[in-house]
Amino acid sequence: MREYRDMALERLDVERFFAGQGIQLKRLNEQEYRFRCPFHDDQEASANVNLKTGLWYCHTENIGGTAIDFLMRQGVSYREALARVGEMVGLPVPTPGRATWPPFQDVGEQLWREGWRGLVAPSAARPIGTTLCLFWQGEQEIDGAEPQPPPRRIDEPPAPPRGMTT
Ligand SMILES: [Zn+2]
Repeated sequence: MREYRDMALERLDVERFFAGQGIQLKRLNEQEYRFRCPFHDDQEASANVNLKTGLWYCHTENIGGTAIDFLMRQGVSYREALARVGEMVGLPVPTPGRATWPPFQDVGEQLWREGWRGLVAPSAARPIGTTLCLFWQGEQEIDGAEPQPPPRRIDEPPAPPRGMTT
């Protein structure tokens, strides 16, 4: 989820991140550093990074972005890059467990009473994914609910209903 990404990037010590990537930074001015771009044969340090915004840019290749983009340039998936940056700043991707489930039981029951039979929502437990949540009561038919042939792609998940704290 975007929020998690922004939080991770905000907390990231950009200077330390690049040092950790084996990049030698040369100070340009108060905010900017120059470095040799590792993504092309760079003899003259044609890339720079702004410590304040955390954004880097290679002037030869016209590529750049955040620390996440930097990792992805190395062939790391978005999911993995996000998890790595999150971990660097002490924001491990939370995983749901039995101990963390009970508080959500009430929310699910409330939604059932309000007529919800299932929903697709951004997931707090998996910040970079979405969750399909179905409510089912015994063998009984669910009014208005129809089986959907998998896979059903949903590009824009609806906002979670009121009262949910995802
Ligand atoms: Zn480059």
